[in-house]
Amino acid sequence: MYSCLFCKIANKQISSEIVFENDSLLAFKDIRPSAPVHYLIVPKEHIQSIAHLKDNHRGVLSDLVFSAKALALKLGLGGYKLVFNVGREGGQIIDHLHLHLLGGWTNNEK
Ligand code: AMP
Ligand code: ZN
Repeated sequence: MYSCLFCKIANKQISSEIVFENDSLLAFKDIRPSAPVHYLIVPKEHIQSIAHLKDNHRGVLSDLVFSAKALALKLGLGGYKLVFNVGREGGQIIDHLHLHLLGGWTNNEK
């Protein structure tokens, strides 16, 4: 059993602003937003990163993307960015797979 930060958030051992949850994943507000709207979509299963995906994770990955799309629609975002940081050189700080949903900009502030 892993007990990294995002595992603890998924297990409700650490509180977060959860906006969506199902059996396989949850979405919550990023604590240090990099955009006016910034959510993290996180599988409940501990997978370290995109680089650690196995063939049997195709469904998990698909769920992440479809949940991000549904959340963006619910939030009324006209456009958005979906970002996976992969490994330290890719800017990944938390070693539990997560998809960043970023949006809410006006004009050209991105
Ligand atoms: P990454 O650099 O891709 O690993 O992104 C990790 C993200 O997790 C950063 O955007 C952080 O602001 C965010 N983060 C770290 N701790 C928390 C927390 N307790 N609740 C919500 N977001 C967090
Ligand atoms: Zn974890």
